[in-house]
Amino acid sequence: LLKGKRALVTGSTSGIGLAIARSLAAEGAEVVLNGFGDEAQIAALRAELGATHSGADLTDVAQIEAMMAEAGEIDILVNNAGMQHVAPVEDFPVEKWDTIIALNLTAAFHTTRLAVPGMKRKGWGRIINTASAHSKVASPFKSAYNSAKHGLDGFTKTVALELAEHGVTANCISPGYVWTPLVENQIPDTMKARGMTRDEVVNDVLLVKQATKKFVQPDEIGALAAFLCRDEAQNVNGANWSVDGGWTAE
Ligand code: NAD
Repeated sequence: LLKGKRALVTGSTSGIGLAIARSLAAEGAEVVLNGFGDEAQIAALRAELGATHSGADLTDVAQIEAMMAEAGEIDILVNNAGMQHVAPVEDFPVEKWDTIIALNLTAAFHTTRLAVPGMKRKGWGRIINTASAHSKVASPFKSAYNSAKHGLDGFTKTVALELAEHGVTANCISPGYVWTPLVENQIPDTMKARGMTRDEVVNDVLLVKQATKKFVQPDEIGALAAFLCRDEAQNVNGANWSVDGGWTAE
């Protein structure tokens, strides 16, 4: 279904981005991977998906511009790279704030502004932004992340309106907790910030609002991303799709 389309998925060497890249490749898209990681592992992913890879650090505008120039015209842009930091606002490290805003929000602005001219020219495009349940509601100790994700929702809606008559859609996918390194790595700081054990963090923080009491699986996000690329989804525009087991329904 996506033969002849080129998809750039940022932060696709791990977790959700990798699942989206796999799902789009399975539909026939030519995939450009991005993200950090072990060289041999990235080479294996490139071979598996027949993909190319950019190691651009998306907190750096010059590296984003170089990646976009190298990638050529992108039909499907998935802004997925993101990071988390858990700390009370008064102790929140200033450089972590800046990095999280740069990666989780500003990078999407740069890739989008650079991809849009080609999409407009072709009269077809898909922009999919991995937001979060934290683009709709907040949790304590995640000030930078929540701010960036709420911002990403607003950015996506704006772009959706600007491009609506050009055959280009822009939507957010907002997962609840998905078991990936991003979630695993925040457990120690959450234990510290809340004075909890590991099990308490998993059950009383991570899964407490996820009504299904299950972690979302990365390939569930991949399947939704592939759906948003279909022609049947041409009127899904400016939406923010929750995949959170009911968390934000409450
Ligand atoms: P992950 O840590 O498994 O993967 C993050 C990816 O981003 C990796 O490929 C990493 O190399 C890349 N990356 C990190 N810093 C980068 C940088 N400076 N430049 C370029 N790439 C960089 O995380 P994940 O859980 O798969 O998260 C992916 C997205 O999903 C993020 O935007 C995250 O906020 C969002 N999300 C995750 C969850 C969850 O529960 N895991 C829930 C909601 C939203």
